[in-house]
Amino acid sequence: MPEKISLTDGVLDVPAEPIIPFIEGDGTGVDIWPAARLVIDATVAKRYGGKRRIEWLEVLAGQKAFDETGDWLPQATVDTFREYLIGIKGPLTTPIGGGIRSLNVALRQILDLYVCLRPVRYFAGVPSPVKRPELVDMVIFRENTEDIYAGLEVEEGTPSAKKLIGLLKDNFGWEIKPDSGIGIKPVSQSGSKRLIRAALTYATERGRKSVTLVHKGNIMKFTEGAFRNWGYELTRDEFADVAVGWDDCDGNPGDKILVKDAIADITLQQVLTRPDEFDVIATLNLNGDYLSDALAAQVGGIGIAPGGNINYVTGHGIFEATHGTAPKYAGQDKVNPGSLLLSGVMMLEHLGWQEAADDIVAALEATIADKIVTYDFARLMDGATEVKTSEFASAIVDRL
Ligand code: NAP
Repeated sequence: MPEKISLTDGVLDVPAEPIIPFIEGDGTGVDIWPAARLVIDATVAKRYGGKRRIEWLEVLAGQKAFDETGDWLPQATVDTFREYLIGIKGPLTTPIGGGIRSLNVALRQILDLYVCLRPVRYFAGVPSPVKRPELVDMVIFRENTEDIYAGLEVEEGTPSAKKLIGLLKDNFGWEIKPDSGIGIKPVSQSGSKRLIRAALTYATERGRKSVTLVHKGNIMKFTEGAFRNWGYELTRDEFADVAVGWDDCDGNPGDKILVKDAIADITLQQVLTRPDEFDVIATLNLNGDYLSDALAAQVGGIGIAPGGNINYVTGHGIFEATHGTAPKYAGQDKVNPGSLLLSGVMMLEHLGWQEAADDIVAALEATIADKIVTYDFARLMDGATEVKTSEFASAIVDRL
């Protein structure tokens, strides 16, 4: 019987037939969602011999919601995600000129999904612009609620901007050009520590070797620099039995997880030149945005980059394709469903259905190894067979 997922003592309680809300997504959502769902359902059925099954529950958001209800993000959708804890979504159109800046950002803020989790790994055979893409195996924990994404901005020339500029001059003696727009960058101790705590817990549970705190603390000492310091403090206060900071062990962690830090700009170089030195990465919102897209490019681009937005305390999590709606391809059964499918893999892992997650990854790898791929990979590979979105999904199911 289909049942809700619940949270008991901080641990997800997943029934054999969990009810999982999904947003199909706009644009190419109509192509990639059915493909991803086909593979997920076939895998779960085969792996668990019919003893487990996902009961999908459609909720509306984006263009489809607006057309049907006049609301881009209906309250009922938010309420459903709140109630059922775990969900999955395709890409959503960002309404232009509407009250909501981005539906994705709105969902993250309403449900306080403070971790943006982006695993980045290489699948053999995927076309890549770098020489050794197989060395890339990183998991990025990007803070998802603070930093300059908090939306605290005033526009140049407005009364609010003038007022703020005056206030900063009068109270802090800060001279700011009168024709400036201003954004505020809040970075809290509690917000930073809960993100780094999630990264360290993940590293511990998954047997990862290191956690790198990526920051620009050399310039922004009290926000980014503080993030770094709070990370080391947390390591000492809460993870001393399993992890150790660089300075506390001179870079020799023994069998513990090594917690180190790196400046954001040099990190963007080093993930290219020495990717094997990075494992789990914990970073602030803007750095994480840049880093996760740059890394995704190394291993095949946004067509196969998955993501999850998670609050480990309340148990809420929404897994999602990281690319947009690619409207020029909508309804053509053409684009790569890999990003949404691998988001489904992350979701299965999060639910503890690891065997099913591993099966999908193995079947996806076998399909790519057979050079059966969608247009985005086909144009970069020699001797590939280009297939439609739905055919790619069927090919994966054939290889389960
Ligand atoms: P986009 O939809 O991500 O598309 C940009 C390009 O990425 C596409 O033209 C295509 O490249 C490639 N691409 C995207 N999805 C792909 C897939 N499944 N398989 C293979 N290639 C794929 O970005 P956009 O055109 O800037 O944004 C369109 C809309 O999406 C906007 O309304 C934007 O706000 C929204 N958006 C939503 C999300 C989200 O919901 N998470 C994220 C980003 C943007 P080629 O042209 O080279 O084939």
